[in-house]
Amino acid sequence: MAKLEIVCDGHPTLKKQAKSIRKMTDEMRLLADDMVETMLCSNGVGLAGNQVNRPVRIITVMHAQDDVRVYINPRILKFSKEVQYGDEGCLSFPLLYGTVCRADRVTVQAQTLDMKKVKLDAEGYLARIFQHEIDHLNGITFTERAEPDTFYTITRKEYEEDIEDGEAPEDTSSGDKEASQPADDSSQAG
Ligand SMILES: [Zn+2]
Repeated sequence: MAKLEIVCDGHPTLKKQAKSIRKMTDEMRLLADDMVETMLCSNGVGLAGNQVNRPVRIITVMHAQDDVRVYINPRILKFSKEVQYGDEGCLSFPLLYGTVCRADRVTVQAQTLDMKKVKLDAEGYLARIFQHEIDHLNGITFTERAEPDTFYTITRKEYEEDIEDGEAPEDTSSGDKEASQPADDSSQAG
């Protein structure tokens, strides 16, 4: 496995509509492995193909600390009417945070690495990760969703200290980046 370069703000691939994956190949399996490693090395809780400059419909999602799953062609079938507000960060915007309103629960349809269809319900924090990552596949970043007056940045030093500590910056909640809140509320999602 290898750590891939994560593309950042301003990179054109972040704006691209990612392509569906029709067939599982060795190349795609390798990409999945590398994305998992890249996400874990970066202290992230989610990663989308676009972010490693591969605009294909693949995401990695941390369901729990030792439970990272790969989803192919994920799609949100249903958004709850109830919403949640929370601060999000993104591995492609390393120092930036903002408050994003998301559906509290989503129903996601996707395929596994064996291309088997799966459907799952996610709520709270996990639902937020799915919405953030699937947005990436549609060329949308959290900066387009965040409430305009809620953006804040941390310093590079704070960021690096957080990576070293294996901890999230204080007061941050979700998105790609490791959060202060554990992802344990995801246990009902399958
Ligand atoms: Zn992101």
